[in-house]
Amino acid sequence: MSLPLREDLRGIEPYGAPQLDVPVALNVNENPYPPSEAVVAEVGAAVADATRSLNRYPDREFTALREDLAAYLGHGVTADQVWAANGSNEVMLQILQAFGGPGRTAVSFAPTYSMYPEYARDAMTGWVVGHREDDFSLDVDHAAAVVSEHRPSVVLLPSPNNPTGTALPLTTVSAVSAAASDVGGVVVIDEAYGEFRRAGTPSALELLHETPNLVVTRTMSKAFALAGARLGYLAASTEITDALRVVRLPYHLSAVTQAVARVALRHADELLARVEDLREERDLTVAWLRAEGLRVADSDANYALFGTFADRHAVWQGLLDRGVLVRETGPDGWLRVSVGTPQEMAAFKTALQAVLTCAPAGRREEVLQ
Ligand SMILES: *Cc1c(COP(=O)(O)O)cnc(C)c1O
Repeated sequence: MSLPLREDLRGIEPYGAPQLDVPVALNVNENPYPPSEAVVAEVGAAVADATRSLNRYPDREFTALREDLAAYLGHGVTADQVWAANGSNEVMLQILQAFGGPGRTAVSFAPTYSMYPEYARDAMTGWVVGHREDDFSLDVDHAAAVVSEHRPSVVLLPSPNNPTGTALPLTTVSAVSAAASDVGGVVVIDEAYGEFRRAGTPSALELLHETPNLVVTRTMSKAFALAGARLGYLAASTEITDALRVVRLPYHLSAVTQAVARVALRHADELLARVEDLREERDLTVAWLRAEGLRVADSDANYALFGTFADRHAVWQGLLDRGVLVRETGPDGWLRVSVGTPQEMAAFKTALQAVLTCAPAGRREEVLQ
């Protein structure tokens, strides 16, 4: 029989990066450092404690966790300005459920995070993409023009951008927020990689108090090395967090999730200590790729977009054949590599050199400037 599947979902494959079992996985921007045994023990104890009352539904408002997240964010953010869900991807879907919908539009600027159009589709929201410049920065006049033409109810801007690593200056965030405010829209600055910013790169949290239509999203999946726990969150005005409470499923954050996230926040200093190592390794990787004659986007994140290749799939496959999985994403000709441990990056460099030596014809536009 033919299923009553939505017309716009027919023939669509579920999206996701390949989950391959490889020695060196540098494809989904995970933190390569697992939690320490001390954190493992405390999480274990907290989960055991939560288990003693798993016959009851969890705190629907996850009040204690919201307080902890607000304290972590600082910038005067209060617990009722915080919202969380199972990964910032769920947070994003809830934003579109509340502020998108039929007859409405969400806007981003390519290259941008590949999941956004999926959430727009799932929330029956129109999807429009403007463009970024050749250096992946966002031109404010172009952004404002796209916003005033398409009148989006939601603008989605990753900063640092995925897949390019480009962070937005606060002047750009302000200008896009003002343009969106003129058409009654909210602006989401997705700071999934916010903790990896280079020194001197500000967070959009600084603008929160003066920008009522601004939402700043974060996640524990990347810097906190907690991708498996599924905890994403945001800071925004209480009008916005109250709207999200309307569309969330009841008890969407399990007692176990809440307990694990709270232990991780208590150990923020320890978990984030590795961020400094990863930022250094990122800068070394970018410099190395450039020294190899490749183009590399400036990165404020834990990955680097590099290229360009006449046949990027061949380079991706060549790396995979040598046990190194990177991501085939971004504009044609580019590949993205996540920053791993020094050992993993050494394996990546050896493999890439081998691939480029075997197939010199696969390499083009060798120098950025
Ligand atoms: C990884 C990532 C997220 C976070 O996803 P989670 O659902 O929190 O694991 C959000 N936005 C961007 C741009 C990302 O790359």
